Amino acid sequence: MTERIRDFLRRRREDGPCLVVDLEVVRDNYFKFARALPDTRVFYAVKANPEPQLLKLLADLGSSFDTASVVEIELALDAGATSDRISFGNTIKKERDVARALELGVRLFAVDCEDEVEKIARAKAATGAEDVQVFCRILCDGAGAEWPLSRKFGCEPELAIEVLEHAHRVGLEAYGVSFHVGSQQGNTEAWDQALGSAAMIFHTLAEKGIHLSMVNLGGGFPTRYLKDIPAVEAYGQSIFEALSRHFGNRIPATIIEPGRGMVGNAGVIEAEVVLVSKKSRAEDEIRWVYLDIGKFGGLAETMDESIRYPIRTDRDADATTPCVLAGPTCDSADVLYEKAPYPLPVSLSIGDKVLIEGTGAYTTTYSAVAFNGFPPLKSYVI
Ligand SMILES: *Cc1c(COP(=O)(O)O)cnc(C)c1O
Repeated sequence: MTERIRDFLRRRREDGPCLVVDLEVVRDNYFKFARALPDTRVFYAVKANPEPQLLKLLADLGSSFDTASVVEIELALDAGATSDRISFGNTIKKERDVARALELGVRLFAVDCEDEVEKIARAKAATGAEDVQVFCRILCDGAGAEWPLSRKFGCEPELAIEVLEHAHRVGLEAYGVSFHVGSQQGNTEAWDQALGSAAMIFHTLAEKGIHLSMVNLGGGFPTRYLKDIPAVEAYGQSIFEALSRHFGNRIPATIIEPGRGMVGNAGVIEAEVVLVSKKSRAEDEIRWVYLDIGKFGGLAETMDESIRYPIRTDRDADATTPCVLAGPTCDSADVLYEKAPYPLPVSLSIGDKVLIEGTGAYTTTYSAVAFNGFPPLKSYVI
């Protein structure tokens, strides 16, 4: 929570929940990444928060962009990024979107199987694009992450060798290897194992005359919710040591794709208590607190109670009691915290404002357009 956000909310008059993002915090985060990993290019993961002013700030600071769709590519271009600062990092792309990306000047693509390589090769031929680079994503188990990314993306390292060989064979530049250690990764050592696999892929392909040059270290850098997290410097140090361990003095070019770590702590959601109730008159009956924002209004990452946001109220000096916290919609899935109830002030009342911190990433983009007639989460960038 910054003074600037506090000021902004004090003056705000509109009704309904909103997210406020402080660009000064984003600027700070960018420099922290740049300092902690000085030889690494930063590709901000646009999906975390695609607000145009935020993208423009990052473009001005020199950031590159990891995109997942043509729309995200256009957002990055509109923000002032040149096409050589954009990667199409989604491993699941339509061929016509690959062609469109090539027409827009993008030359860097993620793949994780031979059929995806084929699409890029065909789109390259159709558009006459030159110097198209591909990197192959490998699987990562996501251990230590609070929001793991599962087996949906990436392939086993042995298969990555074949995928990159295939890319080379069909006239693409086999450029490197990528992975993602899982989002909100609390373990600074989580990059080590995947870097070992990446080095193995580099060596095996070098013996076949194919020389990779880049490792994409993905995202995963955490933001602070309720628990302390290691500093970005600790991640930088640990990654540098792992690179040295596995690549010796031939460290490849590297990129990172921070999303949550770049914008999470820059945002605060202001919401309102709509109802406080109990399900029976029993003394020990738990209180239910219903907010005007829930899973469909932007707090989708409370799914399985994975991400636990810090919540502040004006009554935090008062005694607290465990509460079930829920959203306002008529869907029973719209409960934020129930398995692990959330301690909130006993005095919390209908109409009170609550501040949900650490909500700069993965909130506005997850909010429904109008489920139950609730409008999408409003967002202000200051
Ligand atoms: C979502 C995503 C990121 C950002 O991950 P964070 O954990 O938010 O830093 C980075 N790279 C890729 C390919 C992604 O899909």
